Amino acid sequence: MNFEIISIFPHIFDSYTNESIIKRAQDEGHIKIKSHDLRDWTEDKHRTVDDTPYGGGAGMVMKIEPLYKAVSSIKYQVLSGQDQAPHNTKYLIPNTKTVLLSAKGKNWDQKMATEYSKLDNLILICGRYEGVDERILNYVDDEISIGDYVLTGGELGALVLIDSIARLLPGVLGNDQSAVDESHSTPGKLEYPQYTRPEVFVDKNGHEHKVPEILLSGNHAKIEKWRREQMRRK
Ligand code: SAM
Repeated sequence: MNFEIISIFPHIFDSYTNESIIKRAQDEGHIKIKSHDLRDWTEDKHRTVDDTPYGGGAGMVMKIEPLYKAVSSIKYQVLSGQDQAPHNTKYLIPNTKTVLLSAKGKNWDQKMATEYSKLDNLILICGRYEGVDERILNYVDDEISIGDYVLTGGELGALVLIDSIARLLPGVLGNDQSAVDESHSTPGKLEYPQYTRPEVFVDKNGHEHKVPEILLSGNHAKIEKWRREQMRRK
């Protein structure tokens, strides 16, 4: 699966995407992640991407033209290899979605991550400042929030989507069962408690915390039953 990110801070992703499972997923060809600098689609010498809001008010708003050009260009030049973008950029590239990260969007969850994991391409638009010119919504498929709070930019949201989708793709996790038994893989259900060595942990006040006996029993049927009982509902 291809992830194409549009941001004014394209290097912000480097550290996270070059470590651990997400790095390995790229090295093994399960995913590609490319971050694009929105300023590459500006035409003035200051590479301006924002302007003051109509009607007045605090802060700056991201202009529609660079965003529109970025989405069109990624869809047509990067994803389909064509030169010219037709006027309406919506729904024309198969199995591709364009998402605007936004505090006003639909809340992201595991069900959406599962649906999105079937896509071939995902274009992620990261807002900054006071947000983006609302007219960009004519060219996106979904407006997505990663929670009911306001971030300074959409970049963390883009990483949250990429990470939660990538680990559902076949071959990305060492053991594909890992993503099946997890919290939220059945909506509303949370994973059973997990423990590892030592068997008894003693804190500096002398309090002892033991691993539940059942997990040391070696009786797999009983352990499985205990785990099912321990899976909490959210
Ligand atoms: N003025 C906007 C509002 O009240 O909804 C907030 C703008 S925020 C400072 C700048 C950018 O951060 C947004 O355009 C969006 O891309 C991103 N952002 C902020 N909160 C987000 C959230 N909860 N989920 C996803 N993206 C978010």
